[in-house]
Amino acid sequence: MNAELDPVLLTPGPLTTSLITKSAMLRDWGSWDTDFNSITRSLRADLVDIVHGRDTHVCVPLQGSGTFSVEAAIGTLVPRDGKVLVPQNGAYCKRVVRICEYMGRPVVELPIEEGKLPTGAMIEEALLRDPAITHVAQVHCETGTGTLNPLQDIAQTCARLGKGLIVDAMSSFGAIGIDVRTTPFDALVAASGKCLEGVPGMGFVIIRREALEKCQGNSASLSMDLYDQWAYMEKTSQWRFTPPTSVVAALRAAVDLFKAEGGQPARGKRYQANCDALVSGMQDLGFRTFLPRDVQAPIIVTFHAPEDPAYEFRTFYEKVKAKGFILYPGKLTEVDTFRVGCIGDIDRDVMRSAVRAIEETLAEMGVKQISHHKIVA
Ligand SMILES: *Cc1c(COP(=O)(O)O)cnc(C)c1O
Repeated sequence: MNAELDPVLLTPGPLTTSLITKSAMLRDWGSWDTDFNSITRSLRADLVDIVHGRDTHVCVPLQGSGTFSVEAAIGTLVPRDGKVLVPQNGAYCKRVVRICEYMGRPVVELPIEEGKLPTGAMIEEALLRDPAITHVAQVHCETGTGTLNPLQDIAQTCARLGKGLIVDAMSSFGAIGIDVRTTPFDALVAASGKCLEGVPGMGFVIIRREALEKCQGNSASLSMDLYDQWAYMEKTSQWRFTPPTSVVAALRAAVDLFKAEGGQPARGKRYQANCDALVSGMQDLGFRTFLPRDVQAPIIVTFHAPEDPAYEFRTFYEKVKAKGFILYPGKLTEVDTFRVGCIGDIDRDVMRSAVRAIEETLAEMGVKQISHHKIVA
């Protein structure tokens, strides 16, 4: 099989990975083996270093998709009599609210229009209004729209008011700078298959050691208990329960590539170039982005669907796929949109080719009116 012929994933994970990362999965590892355990150890250290947390934080990996780790972080960090505030501006924020409800942790939503930003001041007001709130759960990049929420402002507000902060940084970790020394948090959740460009299958939570030490007994789930996972890992260097060995080995290779590229600044710069090439190419075709530029993260872009009656997402998707690119449906209830990811082992030439594939597809479908501003000849 020729990996070059696989379609490029323009999705927010799983995403296109390098051949080196894929090849790292061609070996079987024993979970008890010291070679495998040293991979886990070095990965945990490298992941904490990405947010400069070596002196204060530890990394606890967990089997499963990213949501498993968000759920584990809330279940482990928030005591059973705690209460969570969720600034809510999109689909992934809503998921955090559902997690709290499932786990029986009281939750308060701070509703914000999709595409608009929460601020530290808004969160301060909500916290002062309800002193029973113990934790804020903040999504960093809201992948549902592509919005970048102002994490540093919110983190400093939480620290000043003595509230715990749990961050879902799933789609930003590794691409957008987060420095725990200036953006303090109790826990930050990310996963193997997003901006680190590994394959999906494990999440990890970077947790303030002092906070984690107090979390024994909080979790109502054994397999999702990050305190227990951490305590066992510290003692034995092993994962509790079967580790996703090939995912871990692939992530080790992916993080080596990440470091060789120049770490977070270089990765963020490449994704920004991808995003810029995509947005300008699509604007030339007449497309409009859902978000204004100043709140758009360089991770995933939401476009308004063409207004032409000849447009239909499924056909559009299949035809663009036949040209080698996988798009992503929109996640908004009010407006018809689709999304294009900027992340993965891809560069701006790939984005330009994707825009060409979209242009050809629209011509084949007879879609002329992209928006009321512009009719394609
Ligand atoms: C991808 C993502 C998740 C996790 O999704 P899974 O499908 O469980 O991997 C959580 N939050 C955000 C913001 C994401 O982008």
